[in-house]
Amino acid sequence: MEGEWVWVDSDIGVPIGARVTVTPSGQRLLVDDEGKQRSLAQEQEASLRIMHPTSVEGVDDMIKLGDMTEAGLLRNLLLRHKRGLIYTYTGSVLVAVNPYQDFPFYSGDQVGLYHGRKLGELPPHIFAIAESCYCNMMRHLRNQCCIISGESGAGKTETTKLILQYLAAISGELSEQQIEQQILESNPILEAFGNAKTIRNDNSSRFGKYLEIFFNKKGVIEGARVEQYLLEKSRVCHQALEERNYHVFYCMLAGATAEEKKTLNLGDAKEYKFLSKGGCIQCDSRDDAKDYQRILSAMKILTFSELQSNTQNNLETSDVSKSQHFSMAASLLEVKRSALAKSLTEHSFMTNRESVIKPLSADQASDCRDAFVKAIYNKLFIWIVEKINNVIYKKLTKSPKSSFLSIGLLDIFGFENFKTNSSAGFKVKVLFGVPQGSDATMLNKMNQQHRRNKNYVSSRSEYDTDFGVRHYAGIVYYDSKGFLEKNRDAVSSDMINMVKKTKNMLLQQIFEEELSTNNVKISNNKKIVMTPNNSLRFRQSLDSLMKALSACQPSFIRCFKPNNEKQSEAKLCMRQLRYSGMLDTIRIRKLGFPIRHTFEDFLKRYRVLLKTTVCDPKTETAAACCEAICKTEIQGEDEWKIGRTKIFLRDAHDAILERLREEKL
Ligand code: ADP
Ligand code: MG
Repeated sequence: MEGEWVWVDSDIGVPIGARVTVTPSGQRLLVDDEGKQRSLAQEQEASLRIMHPTSVEGVDDMIKLGDMTEAGLLRNLLLRHKRGLIYTYTGSVLVAVNPYQDFPFYSGDQVGLYHGRKLGELPPHIFAIAESCYCNMMRHLRNQCCIISGESGAGKTETTKLILQYLAAISGELSEQQIEQQILESNPILEAFGNAKTIRNDNSSRFGKYLEIFFNKKGVIEGARVEQYLLEKSRVCHQALEERNYHVFYCMLAGATAEEKKTLNLGDAKEYKFLSKGGCIQCDSRDDAKDYQRILSAMKILTFSELQSNTQNNLETSDVSKSQHFSMAASLLEVKRSALAKSLTEHSFMTNRESVIKPLSADQASDCRDAFVKAIYNKLFIWIVEKINNVIYKKLTKSPKSSFLSIGLLDIFGFENFKTNSSAGFKVKVLFGVPQGSDATMLNKMNQQHRRNKNYVSSRSEYDTDFGVRHYAGIVYYDSKGFLEKNRDAVSSDMINMVKKTKNMLLQQIFEEELSTNNVKISNNKKIVMTPNNSLRFRQSLDSLMKALSACQPSFIRCFKPNNEKQSEAKLCMRQLRYSGMLDTIRIRKLGFPIRHTFEDFLKRYRVLLKTTVCDPKTETAAACCEAICKTEIQGEDEWKIGRTKIFLRDAHDAILERLREEKL
């Protein structure tokens, strides 16, 4: 038994690997994957569970694993990760384990290596997935999408950027144009305004993103479109401990010249309440001053004008008082001080007969200010996305949609962090109409109201603060703590009236909707402007996303986080493995035949592989011809199936047949 690998129980809930060793003194031991030693009595040996050789060595496609168990998957991923192999296939699904360091994986050489090669020909790589999307798109003239999932910090956003980088590089070989660069440069801008340091990730995306890249029929990128989902607004006014506000604030304050700062009346980040609530100004892995230059150059490439780059939302200093900050806020907003003061401290509303003005309490006034600040930031973000799309997308709208093919990249943070997902994503206030009251009463109300809703999962007890929502990807739990705070963001009509008076064009522009409609609602004597159906709009954009995705051929990338401060490596990965449903995917894939073609399509493509002496297409049916091709080219009767109208193949055969076909051509 000496040297043999076996499975042993562990405290992480699944078995781990261990090796039988004998010490010089003859003592028999098991040394497990975590380096711990366990004594081994001779009589125990017979009952040991021997490890399959594929698990000892590791495999690049988990479908090949002999021990098809959670433990098998886990060990394979960790084994490869230790060897610096961060990518592993599970059939056509790519698993990416975050390396947290720069590897020389992504050079132009690597692009050249993977370009034109089939999935599985070379070691697993994100570029292989990008290449396969591109090939499928060109070959079948079908739109593609990549669905990138994983917890916060697992590497979704980096993965998205790598795919884009690959596609831009291969498109760039075919033509000389600026558009690829412009699309790439949209990232630093979006990240500056939409990413922040959190405890999980120094560059955490606080919005969901769908980037659709459009190609002409020659395979050259013609443009792209960014769709954003639900920026986390509350971060603008409040940050949890050790977290920061959006990068852009710190970058500007660290990177602008003394002169610029003087003109804009700016101080240091630590002087601002809204930038220092998390007690964290500096972020070790980031260089704010350098990033500022990067943002400015990206803005130049995307044709933001200087004035627009400078128009920052500096309102974070404004207290509801007549301080110097207040004057500055008024001047930045380009409104009279008196108008700003009124809108921040007074509340006007209509009774049946007359209009009444009531002073706001200090708390109400600061809520009012925060709501306004959050609205400005959110609208500014939407405006930035629109501005980017004007450059990278607008010209495509002149041609019919059918003249383009597309690859969509989905990077959304919604589904991963299921324990405390108090994301900005749920407009409780709007949906349930509970403007006052505590988080607890709100939760109570929701539990009651949605008792029979099968998509709602009630709190487990009255002491629990969480509730679940069944999304298409699974149940996501949200913590109701702080929910109301997050949703107390309806902008008062008094604020809107103030905006009406501004001379600031940008401010007018981003509040265009509120200014042009009379969407004023009176409830409980509280007049609020309904930011026109935010939740409805979100639902619509999510619906259209779902529609777009379901019309595409999808590729899946599952990002894994190998470690964090609180949990052991194996335990953390185990949780992600379970959550991702990977084992089920493999089992189904192993049993099933994920590749399917109609007889006609299959025959058209692989006609060159048909031996006409065996089966003559002139006299035989397409089905018979397909069968003849498979019989000669695919080993093993169980490897393919003939259906009524289609032929079904195992995952690997697509690439094999393609290779054979190319050899013949
Ligand atoms: P997510 O979007 O899933 O929250 P990110 O893509 O922002 O996670 O990744 C978090 C961090 O992990 C990145 O800032 C980077 O430092 C590191 N990282 C992720 N993927 C890679 C990679 N392929 N190579 C090197 N570092 C990576
Ligand atoms: Mg991200």
